[in-house]
Amino acid sequence: MIEFRGVTKRFPDGTVAVDNLDLVVEAGGITVFVGPSGCGKTTSLRMINRMIEPTEGKITVDGRDVAATDAAELRRGIGYVIQQAGLFPHRTILDNIATVPLLLGWSKAKARSRAAELMEIVGLAREMAGRYPAQLSGGQQQRVGVARALAADPPILLMDEPFSAVDPIVRESLQDELLRLQSELGKTIVFVTHDIDEAIKLGDKVAVLRVGGVLAQYDQPGQLLARPVDDFVDNFVGRDRGYRGLGFLSSDAVPIGELPTVALGEPVPDDDAWVLVVDSEQHPQGWLNGAERNGAAVVEADHLVPGGSLYDIGSGSLRSALDAALSSPSGVGV
Ligand code: ADP
Ligand code: MG
Repeated sequence: MIEFRGVTKRFPDGTVAVDNLDLVVEAGGITVFVGPSGCGKTTSLRMINRMIEPTEGKITVDGRDVAATDAAELRRGIGYVIQQAGLFPHRTILDNIATVPLLLGWSKAKARSRAAELMEIVGLAREMAGRYPAQLSGGQQQRVGVARALAADPPILLMDEPFSAVDPIVRESLQDELLRLQSELGKTIVFVTHDIDEAIKLGDKVAVLRVGGVLAQYDQPGQLLARPVDDFVDNFVGRDRGYRGLGFLSSDAVPIGELPTVALGEPVPDDDAWVLVVDSEQHPQGWLNGAERNGAAVVEADHLVPGGSLYDIGSGSLRSALDAALSSPSGVGV
């Protein structure tokens, strides 16, 4: 368990990067720090392993005050992964991963067999072992970075935008692997990202920070989506969200099943009214709120009658239109 108590970081130039942060990271899950660039995510993370010292307040790891713990000792229990894996270019993949065990005084044979085991854990093929970092893709390099951070089997893993530089498809598979890894190894992971989708996908709990280093909300993803505490969180969490992969239609009735799909983030014209068809399992309430805020009525897929139609709902209250839609005999016509 990691606790922040009244933690503030003011840099010498006066910048307040983190402002009076109170937060408990529960052991054994993924806690995500998310927020716009410059909101203090990296600073918060680096205070956990004493790469940055707080100006005020206290951080404890399993009840121990980190300020009173030897930094080298502290870091042995805390793996750290950053955006650019930072691998040693002239060492093979296996040797990169074996570096920490060797530093800890393991025998060469033991360190190498541990490294081979870690390659398997993070999903790197055996034949990568003898390659050099430049011969690997960005996604593979990140896997090596994760393996290296896990080498000494630390109970805590800090990850600072580890997947932000890889392309979206690879990023998704790295995210899936991380979820699998966490459930298998039971590490306490603190994961920093500016990407709310990544935060929602990975986080058991998500801390939303705003610029100035103020914690806006700390909650389970479903709660952030369903009950954002203020407009900042609502906008940050809900932005562009209602339209992802959803069907929509405008002026004419369109049979369900022939609904076009809106591309990610594609704007919906202000002067039109829209009905979105959503799968309620996949699109939690907050996404729907985001869609409604942007002028859409939302019909959950559960309520749809196969073969029915949806209509432009025109002007008027979206909520009442939706209610009418759901209570109409045809299922969803308005
Ligand atoms: P994030 O990781 O969320 O993008 P950071 O924690 O890196 O944000 O930075 C938070 C704020 O602190 C930013 O305004 C940044 O410019 C400032 N900052 C970070 N490091 C320093 C530093 N060494 N000196 C002065 N300001 C800094
Ligand atoms: Mg950062």
